[in-house]
Amino acid sequence: MASYDLVVIGTGPGGYVCAIRAAQLGMKVAVVEKNATLGGTCLNVGCMPSKALLHASEMFEEAGHSFAKMGVSVPAPKLDLPAMMNFKQQGIDGNVKGVEFLMKKNKIDVLKGTGKILGAGKVEVTSDGKSETVETKNIVIATGSDIARLKGIEIDEKRIVSSTGALSLEKVPEKLLIIGAGVIGLELGSVWRRLGADVMVVEFLDRILPGMDGEVAKQFQRMLEKQGFVFKLGTKVTAVDTSGKTLQAKVEPAAGGAAETIEADVVLVCIGRVPYTEGLGLKDAGVALDNRGRVEIDAHFSTNVKGIYAIGDVVAGPMLAHKAEDEGVACAEIIAGQAGHVNYDVIPGVVYTTPEVSSVGKTEEDLKQAGVAYTVGKFPFTANGRSKVNQTTDGFVKVLADAKTDRVLGVHIVGIEAGEMIHEACVLMEFGGSAEDLARTCHAHPTRSEAIKEAALAVGKRAIHM
Ligand code: FAD
Ligand code: NAD
Repeated sequence: MASYDLVVIGTGPGGYVCAIRAAQLGMKVAVVEKNATLGGTCLNVGCMPSKALLHASEMFEEAGHSFAKMGVSVPAPKLDLPAMMNFKQQGIDGNVKGVEFLMKKNKIDVLKGTGKILGAGKVEVTSDGKSETVETKNIVIATGSDIARLKGIEIDEKRIVSSTGALSLEKVPEKLLIIGAGVIGLELGSVWRRLGADVMVVEFLDRILPGMDGEVAKQFQRMLEKQGFVFKLGTKVTAVDTSGKTLQAKVEPAAGGAAETIEADVVLVCIGRVPYTEGLGLKDAGVALDNRGRVEIDAHFSTNVKGIYAIGDVVAGPMLAHKAEDEGVACAEIIAGQAGHVNYDVIPGVVYTTPEVSSVGKTEEDLKQAGVAYTVGKFPFTANGRSKVNQTTDGFVKVLADAKTDRVLGVHIVGIEAGEMIHEACVLMEFGGSAEDLARTCHAHPTRSEAIKEAALAVGKRAIHM
């Protein structure tokens, strides 16, 4: 029987990163993966394919709408959807091969099959009806998450799709109805709107992007509406009739009331994701779950069973690839006897639309609820020189600082390249920096990042260009 220091179940960004860090620390490591390819949701049906389509569809839209005003005259672009899907697949393949390479480089055994925990120290791997059992000192559960489903609405991945089907539609739907105005709805809605679909988003709450700063979400909603998105907030879909040529969705106010019917070619269900623990044998192994079906862990990623740990989407916290990766590193370090740690106060979130939305730390709503006195510094891209010359002036930067200490508590950006810009705020916050520190840091001119410096100056009511 093969024997390891660590067996990681699942090779998403949490699992494969944990395995690499453990190997770096001298452990003998194996990963178990039931999918045909490594990389998990993120590489195969999540972050990577969605970003490839967001990039390609943005280029399509730019070529059709923005080139002419810059004096670049091109014929109207034509969509070749199979070629765009091929572009997406090449990106997936490249990244998946990269993970395979990293496993080899770090001498990590890849055990193909479904992993089941037989108890502390034993994992059974089953593939094509054949099982083998391996021994291990430690186990990390990194099995990720699965799509959340709506009762009575069956996903066939053709006409009623999850994000997975929405990443591989064979033609552009005339009418796309999206259930859920979260990250997936807005990102994949952007892709298909740019390619020609009429997009309507039905959201249960009275706002889009719950959890993001309210002012940012409100302004961002207006920007999306200008692009053609139609939002129905405070509304729910209760049924979808699939009997006809087009789908008929029954929609009613969240609080109850008169229903209406909305016609669509494709319905995308994206109302969140749920932890994935199926077939893992957790009950028999005695591993406790919390009240939302997530694997329960302590501050050191340990479950209630000694030697069994869990990280990533399958445990509590934001379902983000970089959160899973950082937990993977910290967990491997803890297993090796080091002081691994994740700072959950500084985990950025990005929505990769046009413009992008990015956020780190507390929102105004968080601070109000916690009764923390804060100051706000805001700076619009309309007053940023580089944005003006590029004619991409939508959006603003908002810096929230502690009213007493000036320590930066949150930064929120809506604007082009917001997803790249947020990281200077992350570094500043990781070091406990103040708005004054940010304001006195020299920023290259002309860059969009100067808007962050100006927003930090605005905390002290001394922005220069406003
Ligand atoms: P996963 O990536 O889900 O990997 C889990 C792996 O475990 C899978 O490969 C699965 O096959 C395997 N597995 C499960 N059970 C077993 C078993 N019993 N035996 C063997 N293998 C098993 N996050 C971001 O940060 N940025 C983004 O831009 C982003 N975009 C996204 C877009 C979409 C459409 C979706 C759906 C998600 C997106 N996410 C994004 C979220 C991100 O994909 C997840 O947070 C991340 O993949 C979680 O990593 P993980 O390692 O915990 O699990
Ligand atoms: P989400 O939690 O971001 O949004 C789901 C939305 O659906 C919410 O606004 C919620 O209020 C709404 N909703 C729930 N039930 C509903 C109902 N019955 N009717 C109408 N609306 C309803 O979830 P998601 O967009 O499905 O994304 C899943 C996960 O994937 C998220 O945790 C997200 O972090 C991750 N993800 C991240 C990125 C990124 O980082 N750029 C991109 C895609 C996905």
